[in-house]
Amino acid sequence: MKRVLVCGAGGFIGHHLVSHLKSLGYWVRGVDLKHPEFEASQADDFIIGDLRLLDVVQQVINSGGIIDEIFQLAADMGGAGYIFTGDHDSNVMHNSGMINLNIIDEATKANVKKIFYSSSACIYPEYNQLDPDNPKCSEDSAYPAAPDSEYGWEKLFSERLYLAYHRNHNIPVRIARFHNIYGPLGTWQGGREKAPAAICRKVAEADDGGTIDVWGDGQQTRSFLYIDACIDSVMRLMNSDLIGPYNIGSDEMVTINQLVETAANVANKSIRINHIDGPLGVRGRNSDNELILKDLGWAPNFPLHDGINHTYHWIQSQINNH
Ligand code: NAD
Repeated sequence: MKRVLVCGAGGFIGHHLVSHLKSLGYWVRGVDLKHPEFEASQADDFIIGDLRLLDVVQQVINSGGIIDEIFQLAADMGGAGYIFTGDHDSNVMHNSGMINLNIIDEATKANVKKIFYSSSACIYPEYNQLDPDNPKCSEDSAYPAAPDSEYGWEKLFSERLYLAYHRNHNIPVRIARFHNIYGPLGTWQGGREKAPAAICRKVAEADDGGTIDVWGDGQQTRSFLYIDACIDSVMRLMNSDLIGPYNIGSDEMVTINQLVETAANVANKSIRINHIDGPLGVRGRNSDNELILKDLGWAPNFPLHDGINHTYHWIQSQINNH
């Protein structure tokens, strides 16, 4: 039985990943500052611990027998309201940097067989994402680097950190750049929620014919990948010989106004939009999936409407239970 460690197992993607790994029969240890918010983890061993601390990282990798593989998803992060205001920059850089510096070094010392690192589309240069209809996010367009947030700079640094350990110490690494992953069991209120969850919540709370606030003019473009498709591609990348970085995202690009329309459609409500000032991020972004399709044979197969349908109804049930 494979023994794996999921760092960030109390978070959105980490929690879904633990459930998936358990369904495959793996032995799973999860570690996080907190338990998953909305349902219990199925991890065989769940450690509450701070991965900025070296002794915690040593303990989760080395205690109780060999860990074969690590999935590193822990990060200090949130949606645009957390990442783009600038108020959390030093925390984001320090906390996530410490986590990655500790984990890759200890994983190397422990001869872990493989490690997955979750980078982000936020590493891509702002200068290629000014035109909402034509953003460029192919893997080879990352340099000359110019991310528009410190979150993106830390991710880029850590990608390079994992690649350097691979070059100098031969530890097998797998790197993905996630593009806006969403779905049920994700944060949907409180300030760290991302656009799909925030918009589903606002639509769910609005009356039919009502108005919701949206940051910016709503013409900024993005793509959104449903969680099941994300987990599928992470597993395929991990089980391949490929290193990356690879984009893991959807190429079904929509404007934020269209995202609102999709949620309103699912809710069967007519919704008006009130555009207000807010933190926005780049003007346009879409996942470029050419490379991952060519190398791994993977393409997303989950339409936005279906994913928003699942997410909306889950958030609606959360609101009803409050
Ligand atoms: P999340 O915030 O739900 O999960 C991250 C988890 O890391 C949280 O549970 C948090 O408590 C934990 N964590 C933070 N600091 C820690 C510490 N010091 N010690 C232990 N645990 C700590 O985020 P997510 O959406 O599940 O994202 C997972 C990974 O994927 C992150 O690295 C994120 O940057 C990356 N990513 C996510 C998206 C997305 O759309 N969700 C997009 C790009 C990249």
